[in-house]
Amino acid sequence: MEQKLIYLDHAATTAARPEVVEAMMPYFTEKFGNPSSIYGFAAGNKKVITDVRETIAKSLNAPTQDIYFTAGGSESDNWALKATAEAYADKGNHIITTKIEHHAILHTCQYLEKKGFEVTYLDVDENGVVKLDQLKEAIRPTTILISVMFANNEIGTIQPIEEIGAIAKEHGILFHTDAVQAYGQLPIDVEKMHIDMLSASGHKLNGPKGIGFLYIRKGLKLRSFVHGGAQERSRRAGTENVTGIVGLGKAVEIAMATMEERTKKETEMRDHLIDRILAEIPYARLNGDRKRRLPNNVNISFQFIEGESLLIMLDMKGICASSGSACTSGSLDPSHVLLAIGLPHEIAHGSLRMTLGDENTMEEMDYVVDQLKEIVAKLRSMSPLYEDFIKHSK
Ligand SMILES: *Cc1c(COP(=O)(O)O)cnc(C)c1O
Repeated sequence: MEQKLIYLDHAATTAARPEVVEAMMPYFTEKFGNPSSIYGFAAGNKKVITDVRETIAKSLNAPTQDIYFTAGGSESDNWALKATAEAYADKGNHIITTKIEHHAILHTCQYLEKKGFEVTYLDVDENGVVKLDQLKEAIRPTTILISVMFANNEIGTIQPIEEIGAIAKEHGILFHTDAVQAYGQLPIDVEKMHIDMLSASGHKLNGPKGIGFLYIRKGLKLRSFVHGGAQERSRRAGTENVTGIVGLGKAVEIAMATMEERTKKETEMRDHLIDRILAEIPYARLNGDRKRRLPNNVNISFQFIEGESLLIMLDMKGICASSGSACTSGSLDPSHVLLAIGLPHEIAHGSLRMTLGDENTMEEMDYVVDQLKEIVAKLRSMSPLYEDFIKHSK
């Protein structure tokens, strides 16, 4: 029997929707003009870029001119942090972030520490939620930026963004959020949530790879991130990625129009998957908050098992999943996120992340649990640790 691929790694990347690809195609060929050119045929591309900027701005309740196109989430995160550090260095040298950020934030913070900035990495509770008291205590007169991700890419925990925004505003500190996982899955309002900068990426919401944006609140004195031409209000030079921008625009349009229905379906599949696994597979625990959770995230630790072996055996059954984040797999260190929520190394090592998309089905969820049950039993039967454990618990 031909084996169908079951893709459960939507936090790593997603397929571009057919409508997205279709919208992009003409901009590779007949509509190839440089948006900065004067002649009418190219100038149309300038209009198309403005339209997408407006679509994105509306989705966030932001003014159109505050959206800046970038090459994706990593660039947006780098820009927000480095430019803020540089622009506000005369005000202070202290940045607050969390221990569970994506490496695009964590490694940028480490770079800034080498440049003389001081960074506080906030703890999270056992479900991965930032502690607001600790955040307030961490604030110093020299704090210039708070950067807390909207929702975590590994365990799906959603942060109390509005409360964090209010704290930042009250203290006159800028607030950036990495919303790469949340944008398109959760409603976001930069005004209501007091967000000053926000990063998002096309390929996490069924758009193309290599395109994203950074929202920068009007009035922030961030300087140019890429020097050169006058594109993106002279703050990010380079001929615009017109095809990417058009694809991103279509992806955002669809994501916003379908959000309610799509996330309802994902939540049902997510909860079914979690409930069946926890009921039918012993010594399994859910990582991340049961309620404050991305609609499509399932992260489970199976005791006495190596996540990597699990992934290989799932792959043989046509199931694509992930152990830590795509960026850390390949290294043997357990995920920094799972360690931050207090998992011991050996439990963190046995973790499996499955992130769903709207093309997945309930039947697939049942198939996955059936396979998981067999695979986990098989791997445990080969584990001396498990044998020992069973012997002693008898
Ligand atoms: C994927 C991801 C990024 C990086 O985005 P790219 O577009 O791949 O550079 C940053 N932050 C989070 C939370 C992510 O999930």
